[in-house]
Amino acid sequence: MSFKIIVLAKQVPDTRNVGKDAMKADGTVNRGALPAIFNPEDLNALEQALTLKDRYPGTTITLLTMGPGRAAEIIREGLYRGADGGYLLTDRAFAGADTLATSYALSMAIRKIGAFDLILSGRQAIDGDTAQVGPQVAEKLGLSQITYAEEILDMTEKSITVKRRLERGIEIVTGPLPILVTVNGSASECRPRNAKLVQKYKHAKTVTEKQEAAADYTELFSHRPYLNLEEWSVADVQADVEQCGLSGSPTKVKKIENVIFQAKENLTLQPTDEAIDQLMKELIANHTIG
Ligand SMILES: Cc1cc2nc3c(=O)[nH]c(=O)nc-3n(C[C@H](O)[C@H](O)[C@H](O)COP(=O)(O)OP(=O)(O)OC[C@H]3O[C@@H](n4cnc5c(N)ncnc54)[C@H](O)[C@@H]3O)c2cc1C
Repeated sequence: MSFKIIVLAKQVPDTRNVGKDAMKADGTVNRGALPAIFNPEDLNALEQALTLKDRYPGTTITLLTMGPGRAAEIIREGLYRGADGGYLLTDRAFAGADTLATSYALSMAIRKIGAFDLILSGRQAIDGDTAQVGPQVAEKLGLSQITYAEEILDMTEKSITVKRRLERGIEIVTGPLPILVTVNGSASECRPRNAKLVQKYKHAKTVTEKQEAAADYTELFSHRPYLNLEEWSVADVQADVEQCGLSGSPTKVKKIENVIFQAKENLTLQPTDEAIDQLMKELIANHTIG
C-alpha cells in the first residue's frame, strides 16, 4: 500500500525580523525586504508526509508552492528532506493574492498535478495567520478536510485516522480518502536535511533560475533530469486571470500599525530573597502573573 501526497508549503517573510519596510503602500507584504523562510507549520506538515513515506514504501511526496521565483528554495528544502518533487506556481498575475485567490490558484495547480490521496498543509502561515487557505482548497476541490492535526495515526486504502489537537484536549477522527489535512505546530518537528540529498539536489533549478545563473547547466541537466524544477504560470494551470492575484482578491489591507510596548515604570531590584518575594507578591496582586 502506498500513497500520493501533495504538501502545500509557503515561503514566508521571517516575522521575527520585521522592519519599517515590511509593508508596501498597497498593503501587501514587501517580501524583498525580509529574510524568507519555510513556513514553520508547513515543515510540520512535511514531516507527517515523510513519516507516511517511511511507513508505506512507494509513497510519493510532491511539494506545491506559490510565490516569487525565489520560492523555488522551498522545493529544494523539501527535496533535501526526502520529498520526490515539486512545482513552483509563479507569475506576476498571482501577486498580491488574498486567501481566496491563493486557494483558487493552488486548487487549479492541484487539478493539473492529477491523482492524489492526501493533501497536507500547515494550519496557518506566519505572515497572514488566517488558517483559511487549507480549508478553502479542500472546498474548491470538493474534498473532506481535517484541521488541527497533530499526528496521522493510520491510513488504509480508503481512509485516514488523525489525532487533532484542540484547545481543550485531543480528538481522534477518521475521514475518507482523498482528503485535505491541516497540521498544527504541535506536531513532530521536521527532520533535518539529509546530507546525501543535499548533494543530489543542490543544483536543482527552475528554468528562470537557470537563465539567471552565471554557469551553463545544459550538460548537467540533460544527464540529471531530476534537477529540473517545474515552474507553472497562470496559463499553465488554466486559471482565470481575473480570479488570481490582486484582481481576484476581495480583501485589501488598508493599514498596518507597529505596536511598540514601552516600559512606563522601572524598578531596581536588590539581589535578595526578600526583594524577589516582594516583587512576586506585587505581580500576583496586580494579576501580571498567577
Ligand atoms: C497583515 C496581513 C493581513 C491579511 N489579512 C487577510 C485577510 O483578512 N483576509 C485574506 O483573505 N487575506 C489576508 N491577507 C493575505 C493573506 O495572508 C495572503 O493572501 C496569503 O497568501 C494566504 O493566506 P495566509 O498566508 O494567511 O495563509 P494561511 O491560510 O494561514 O495558510 C495555511 C496554509 O496554506 C498553505 N499556503 C498558504 N499560502 C500558500 C502558498 N502561497 N503556497 C503554498 N501553500 C500555501 C500553507 O500550507 C499554509 O500553512 C493578509 C496579509 C497580511 C500581510
